[in-house]
Amino acid sequence: MEKILVTKTSLPPMEEYIEEIKELWDSHWITNMGTKHNEFQDKLVEYMHVNNVELMVNGHMALEMAIQAFDLKGEVITSPFTFASTTHAIVRNGLTPVFCDIKEDDFTIDPAKIEALITDKTCAIVPIHVYGNICDVEAIEQIAKKHNLVVIYDAAHTFGESYNGTGVGNFGDASIFSFHATKVFNSIEGGCVCFKNNRLREILYNLKNFGIKNQECVEAVGANAKMNEFQAAMGVCNLRHIDQYIEDRKRVVKKYQSLLTNVPGITIWKEQNNVKHNYAYFPILVDEKAYGESRDTLFKRLDDAGIGARKYFYPITSAFDAYKGKYDPGDTPIAHKMSETVLTLPLYPELDDMTIEKICFVIKMSNNRRC
Ligand SMILES: *Cc1c(COP(=O)(O)O)cnc(C)c1O
Repeated sequence: MEKILVTKTSLPPMEEYIEEIKELWDSHWITNMGTKHNEFQDKLVEYMHVNNVELMVNGHMALEMAIQAFDLKGEVITSPFTFASTTHAIVRNGLTPVFCDIKEDDFTIDPAKIEALITDKTCAIVPIHVYGNICDVEAIEQIAKKHNLVVIYDAAHTFGESYNGTGVGNFGDASIFSFHATKVFNSIEGGCVCFKNNRLREILYNLKNFGIKNQECVEAVGANAKMNEFQAAMGVCNLRHIDQYIEDRKRVVKKYQSLLTNVPGITIWKEQNNVKHNYAYFPILVDEKAYGESRDTLFKRLDDAGIGARKYFYPITSAFDAYKGKYDPGDTPIAHKMSETVLTLPLYPELDDMTIEKICFVIKMSNNRRC
């Protein structure tokens, strides 16, 4: 029997992609801000309801460059319940991450705990919209204004979302998105920065293209983070289908919710108020006592049944081997605890009802109920 994977990359019909890339054989222009790159960038401005989009080769470089663009020094308040990329991007910019705990209800940074961490070295806040749950953007904005801090959102999980009708890329000074193959929306690999201040366009462009202004003028010490034409073509194609992808994911999530409410010891993901979700992930929390089994035991049992769940995010970034001795995971007890009890279930547009039923059946068969 085939293993059920935790995710499956969304692809447009093959003919559609081939049609899209045919022009590249005519032009022989396959990277360096060609027509597909520019078309994709324009289409994203429209779809995301934002003022400015700068495409990048991937989400991580989008974040590194968004942070670099603000020329920051000192400490950055962030949370450790995230993908490696967020903390690495801060550290790789020569900045010091200061870890703030998260909220138990939605896994995002707890604004009530931010101010206590602010020192005279604090320069920015890098919050994460975890699993497509949108941070408390109003409270964060208030704190940032009061203390004159830059806010850069890691919005990698929230492509296509809006809050109170506002595209999620409009919050903070900048937001970064990931178009990696495993995300709701992909351009094979890819990403972008959305930003408020028009002045950032030139800075970000320079950062992604060696600072080259023209043949004889290199005006900044940039790197290379350009999105190529094949990536952009995939983005253009997938963008035509994104609403359907999200609709299909919603069906899967609704099915999970209907089958897993009232399972003792299992807390399931719920929609936030006033948010148009993209249904990126379906996390559950396992309370060992009430469920009769630990998260790790359930993970193993699912794996034995051919079901690929994911301990996402575990460990928290402050507990990474790479940062041994530098940070104390005990500083963020809620994030630490949640990383030890969370499991994300398989979720992709084609996941059918029978398979979801099978997954839920395995989850409902805890030790408790078997004996
Ligand atoms: C995927 C992801 C990134 C990095 O994006 P890539 O496109 O894989 O480089 C950053 N932050 C979070 C939270 C992510 O999930």
